[in-house]
Amino acid sequence: MARHLDLATRDALLARVRFYRDLGLTEFYRRPVDRVLLAQLEGEPDPLSEQPEDPRAPSFPLFSAERVGDHAASQSDSSQPVQAQEDHPTPPRKPLPSPPQIGAAVAPADRAAALQLIRDEIGDCTRCPLHKGRNKLVFGDGSPAARLMFVGEGPGADEDAQGIPFVGRAGQLLNNMIAAMGLKREEVYIANIVKCRPPGNRTPEPAEGNTCSPFLFRQIDVIRPQVLVALGATAATYLLGARQPLAGLRGRVHAFRGMQLIVTYHPAYLLRDPRQKKEAWADLQIAMRELGLKPPSRE
Ligand code: SF4
Repeated sequence: MARHLDLATRDALLARVRFYRDLGLTEFYRRPVDRVLLAQLEGEPDPLSEQPEDPRAPSFPLFSAERVGDHAASQSDSSQPVQAQEDHPTPPRKPLPSPPQIGAAVAPADRAAALQLIRDEIGDCTRCPLHKGRNKLVFGDGSPAARLMFVGEGPGADEDAQGIPFVGRAGQLLNNMIAAMGLKREEVYIANIVKCRPPGNRTPEPAEGNTCSPFLFRQIDVIRPQVLVALGATAATYLLGARQPLAGLRGRVHAFRGMQLIVTYHPAYLLRDPRQKKEAWADLQIAMRELGLKPPSRE
């Protein structure tokens, strides 16, 4: 069957297909129309020329309507030298294309189900090498209606054992940070750049982060928190799509997919260098200001 797309539609769809292809996420461009476009990219015959379109074909994932520039998409804080990790995260090997502008806001009542759909799609994931050392996949934890979301790097040993993010010592410190903001852990949402533990708590490789982070973006787009806090340089790198020293990212509000993004230290780093807790508290106070929160009374 002959297919005619206007140039704008064709270019937009090609951009989406290339985005998914560059991430290696073939599952995300298996709609018939995308296979046509991919065939065009590859100079192959139209795969739909002799077969009808499958009406049950899956739709695109829930990316937000905002462009965020180049994107790649954390809880282990690596066991590598901490300062080196904070200031010099492993960068993506090449600039990533922007995520497609798709997806409407999910009604609060539907967010838990939408998150479950994403979890179901991830399944018993083997999309990147991190699955080989995984005990439990760490999807995320907290309220689907959260106004505040924390993003770390990847699961550590405790998280890998329990399937819940930030449950070890760094998690206890994060819980204390959340309480200092006047919130309960159940009121926020916590997730990571990668959902499976990197061996030895190393920093995720770019191919791992780039493969897994689109699921995080979809979680973010479902929850649509007012404020996101990137914990550490790796989370900031993937969320902002650019590698920059942490010092240049902290202390201010970044625009992120219609939300406010604040960058601060990873709790594991703060355990190793408690002198930086004051700086982290200053970052959290920026988040509190954006959320209209006041510190709880010490009475
Ligand atoms: S880290 Fe993410 S992409 Fe890699 S195997 Fe785990 S869930 Fe899949």
